[in-house]
Amino acid sequence: MATAESTIKLPKVKHTECFIDGKWRPAASGKTFETINPATEEVICEVAEGDKPDIDAAVKAARKAFDGGPWSKMDARDRGKLMFRLADLIEEEIDEFAALESLDNGKPINEARKGDLPLVLDCLRYYAGYADKIHGSTIPIRGNYFTYTRREPVGVAGQIIPWNFPMLMVAWKWGPALASGCTIVMKPAEQTPLTCLRLAQLAQEAGIPDGVINVVPGFGPTAGASLVKHPGVDKIAFTGEHRTAQIIMRDASETLKRLTFELGGKSPNVVMADADLDKAAAGAYIGLFLNQGQCCCAGSRVFVQKAAHAEFVDKVRKLAQKRRLGNPLSPDTEQGPQVDKAQFDKIMSYIEKGNAEGAKCVAGGDRFGDRGYFVQPTVFDGVTDSMSIAQDEIFGPVMSILTFDDWEDLLARANNTFYGLAAAIWTKNISRAHEFAKRVRAGTVWVNCYDVFDAGAPFGGFKMSGQGRELGEEGLKAYTESKTVTVSLD
Ligand code: ADP
Repeated sequence: MATAESTIKLPKVKHTECFIDGKWRPAASGKTFETINPATEEVICEVAEGDKPDIDAAVKAARKAFDGGPWSKMDARDRGKLMFRLADLIEEEIDEFAALESLDNGKPINEARKGDLPLVLDCLRYYAGYADKIHGSTIPIRGNYFTYTRREPVGVAGQIIPWNFPMLMVAWKWGPALASGCTIVMKPAEQTPLTCLRLAQLAQEAGIPDGVINVVPGFGPTAGASLVKHPGVDKIAFTGEHRTAQIIMRDASETLKRLTFELGGKSPNVVMADADLDKAAAGAYIGLFLNQGQCCCAGSRVFVQKAAHAEFVDKVRKLAQKRRLGNPLSPDTEQGPQVDKAQFDKIMSYIEKGNAEGAKCVAGGDRFGDRGYFVQPTVFDGVTDSMSIAQDEIFGPVMSILTFDDWEDLLARANNTFYGLAAAIWTKNISRAHEFAKRVRAGTVWVNCYDVFDAGAPFGGFKMSGQGRELGEEGLKAYTESKTVTVSLD
């Protein structure tokens, strides 16, 4: 690795137990699991392995705080104030949070500090401002009646999040839930529980009452499934793989819970020959390699118009080859390790498949170093639609470049996937850009940019990339029920 290890101070881990009803407790079973530093493959610490009894206790606390507790009695404006305070406390510890996230997840500290954390703060503050602006409407109905609707919190929200943006996923889930007056039982990903636990501590310090936020670390089929099946939970918000969402949908059917899903993708990123190719190459590079390629919206199918192909490939190849890999805790590092061995092995197997199926590897193609789960930024050219690397979500630093010439053919190919999370187009032709935005079946479309996120802009998928939207007003509504009240005026 590029940086002298001795100059880097490892962040302190302060919380490793379940956070239930405002108290830290070991798992009822006494079991723990290891969380690993993916840059060194060493154990960071042991974390409580929550399971059904811990979920039961957490749901009981969340139910109590919702049904009769202080949260349901608090004025919305005061709820908002506590959320602003939580954001302020996080901001005071922003460097510590960036380091802890980097340690547990492997993402470069600079990216955590300048990318993830500002979005975390924005999201919490955006929804804090919404807390006292949630209202229904009055509706003229036939007869002598007064009819109005109320927007009420959906109740106890079970929130299950992945490991790729651990803190940001907490903010996306807690923000709308707290603003609307819901209470929370969260299960963080088993790979990255540490920042979520620390955030729970700060929520308590901010004055959010006990029982409003509960965090149970543990595994999906045990703690996660218990949360999904629990009759005391009103809604599940899940981010992760579509296969897990299918299990969750089945498990939640017994209690008919409200479900929102943000799932995977195989997003088309289209480069027209008239585009500014420097910008398009830089955008495609970030759109794929950001966060070690571990983004659900990664632009993993790059369609380049034939006339621009040679020049574009050359530019992207050079960028990929220049990317600085190394210790994620070093401020110079641009790419850290993949999150764990399972992901590393999966990505390496796709690189093998890409080679075996006849794509041409023009950059990377191997692991980086011999310790930690590092994968070289890899670019495959000459990819065709039927290859595995063009069809499956790899969730790693592997770009597939495909070519096209005909516009209608491109649109059909861009849409020829069961995913529909994001899409992008690079062009100077504004009509083409809008036509693409209209005809591509995806929840987010970027024109001459990529990975532009904002708390106010809804995010989510068409088709098997999701259900419902997060962020913005739509994300908030997903945590509310609408109630119609009719009063006789006779
Ligand atoms: P990834 O490949 O990103 O780990 P998963 O969908 O497997 O995606 O995991 C996302 C989250 O879902 C994690 O917190 C994981 O523990 C949880 N999870 C996995 N399986 C289940 C399940 N059967 N029920 C509920 N949650 C689950």
